[in-house]
Amino acid sequence: MLLPSSTQSGGEKRLIGVFLACFLLANVTSASGNTDDHVWGESIDFCQKTTELQFNGTLANQSVTWQTELGPRLPGSNASLLLRTSLSENLTSLGWNVEFSSHISHEIELTNVIATWKPQNISQNETNNLGRIVLSAHYDSRNIADRDSNESLRNTPILGANDGASGVAALIELGRIIPSMNLDNEVMLLFSDAEDQGDNYTLGAKAWADNLTGNEINRTESFILLDMIGDSDLHLTKITPSTPILTQNMILLGQKLGLSNQVDGCNGQRSDVIWSNQSLPVFDDHVHAFYLGIPSLDIIDLAYGENAEPYEGYWHTTQDTADKVSAESLESVGRIVELGLLTGAWTSIDTPLEQLQKSTQSNNLDGEQPLIIEDESEKGMDSSITLAILSTSVLVLCTICLIILRRFVE
Ligand SMILES: [Zn+2]
Repeated sequence: MLLPSSTQSGGEKRLIGVFLACFLLANVTSASGNTDDHVWGESIDFCQKTTELQFNGTLANQSVTWQTELGPRLPGSNASLLLRTSLSENLTSLGWNVEFSSHISHEIELTNVIATWKPQNISQNETNNLGRIVLSAHYDSRNIADRDSNESLRNTPILGANDGASGVAALIELGRIIPSMNLDNEVMLLFSDAEDQGDNYTLGAKAWADNLTGNEINRTESFILLDMIGDSDLHLTKITPSTPILTQNMILLGQKLGLSNQVDGCNGQRSDVIWSNQSLPVFDDHVHAFYLGIPSLDIIDLAYGENAEPYEGYWHTTQDTADKVSAESLESVGRIVELGLLTGAWTSIDTPLEQLQKSTQSNNLDGEQPLIIEDESEKGMDSSITLAILSTSVLVLCTICLIILRRFVE
């Protein structure tokens, strides 16, 4: 408490000076507590970077049509083999190293396709410690249209134009442009199998995650999943579980690209692709990386079709066909990922919050239910409370000192 200045002795004035200094110190402590906040993007010229983007939605859309013309890509089918072979030949010719990884899970024989691109001119030693970004999509299509309005079609396999082919198409297009992007980290394209077979979900991605070494986990800076990204009526919400900073970065990148209706993009335009006020839960391929403590993001539109509600519309029906997918939507998402690669949005995101998640999740690896993660606003609230307690403690301490010293002066 401050004493009125007219009744202060010289000793009291000195003590009040000490008190004021403590008060200022407490507030400086409080203000400087925010310096740990995520500062990615502050010094990046996004609008310059948007002029460098190469992702071509028309090419991606052609791939969606081609994939659906193969027929359903069920694990073990000829269509699946044809797609896998094409992915391998195409990416190998562009300088990617491509491997197949086969597993049996829940009596399904599945094959993941793993393409790796490394920066040029680095030694083997550097390679072993190089940070990497994993971009992933499932290349199988669902074996049953169990949500179809026509009951007689519910055992029919779907074509999966959006649910399967759209993410693969975006990855193929990213595979085309990444070798010319001069990135200084490794990029892996993971085409997972058996994501969507009856009651069996995410089997390929789980097999991939289960076989990672500690070094591979540690050097994986992020896992970015693209699933159902081609809907002509595209809306991207927040998805849980995902690492909050990656979600924030996705929203910021979308704003720069003119995909938000809240702020002008670099092109001076707005649109309502980014729905940052909606958050939806989904169990998808990214959860296995997320459980391992790898920062993970699922980019997915769960409301498939115009005015569809989440988890409804053409999702898991025979209506999931190429005419429902647009080049524009594929390009929007492809460019979010590309701009993120150019600006470091998918790397260097290991904040204290993520480190905390790593340590808690590594003790909880066999949990199958999605984790509930802290929202950034809650994180901000927690640190505010901590700082308020710290500031109050300093003030209380100073007040006690003041009382003791005042008695001493008297
Ligand atoms: Zn699906």
